[in-house]
Amino acid sequence: MALPQASGYYQKPWDWKSGQMQVSIGVLISVGVAFLLLGGTAGWLLFALMQQRKLAHTDYLTGIANRGSVFEQGFKLVEHAHGEVEPFSIVLFDVDHFKKINDTLGHGAGDRALRVIVNASRRVLGQREFLGRLGGEEFIAVLPGCGREEAMKRAESLRLAIARAGFLYADKHPVNMTASLGVATLDRDVDFQILVNRADEALYVAKNSGRNRAVRASSSAERLSAGMVTVGSRQRVRG
Ligand code: GH3
Ligand code: MG
Ligand code: MG
Repeated sequence: MALPQASGYYQKPWDWKSGQMQVSIGVLISVGVAFLLLGGTAGWLLFALMQQRKLAHTDYLTGIANRGSVFEQGFKLVEHAHGEVEPFSIVLFDVDHFKKINDTLGHGAGDRALRVIVNASRRVLGQREFLGRLGGEEFIAVLPGCGREEAMKRAESLRLAIARAGFLYADKHPVNMTASLGVATLDRDVDFQILVNRADEALYVAKNSGRNRAVRASSSAERLSAGMVTVGSRQRVRG
């Protein structure tokens, strides 16, 4: 018994005689649209992932590197500096009496002061250098390639830039800021964490000796001759 023939016209997709592919315009459009959709989705996913990664490394208020990002980059940069026998320094700084701005003019003024400080500080830094927010009103300038002398100069430029960055809040309240700074330069026996600890010690010397000043942390050689030893992340005076 003969099978019923399918009605309608069937076009072979490949014509052996002419060697040409017979593809309808509809199929071509469908394939094109599918590719566009796939490409678009992949592109969007990549963009979303990159944005997510950027957000995870950025301080929400000021747009600079956050604490996690600073430490991630800092450890790598110090390893690189050790490998290349290149100088490397950091400047830690903390805004003086920052709480007063919040208490007298509110958190809006405090937030603006932090952004103003970041913008003023950024202008002082070189191409390879960057700024991070360690938390609250405490910042770090990371200075690859900077030796002791240059780092002290950079700290002094930061101090002046912040002291000159006063602004008028709500068009009538003058806000002036100063910061205290601690400067530390890499020695061969030091990693990024120890460098931060040394800069932190120097920063607190700056705070306790009148604020609005930069203090240099002592080097490993100076510590050794003063009888100080570095134990992990802490310095102890030899008893
Ligand atoms: P010192 O000179 O000793 O550093 O005094 P200080 O007032 O700057 O330091 P203190 O630690 O007493 O106060 C810091 C204040 O910073 C307290 C906290 O509420 C405020 N702060 C921290 N993060 C932010 C922020 O993102 N925005 C605002 N507006 N304030 C913040
Ligand atoms: Mg402070
Ligand atoms: Mg502080």
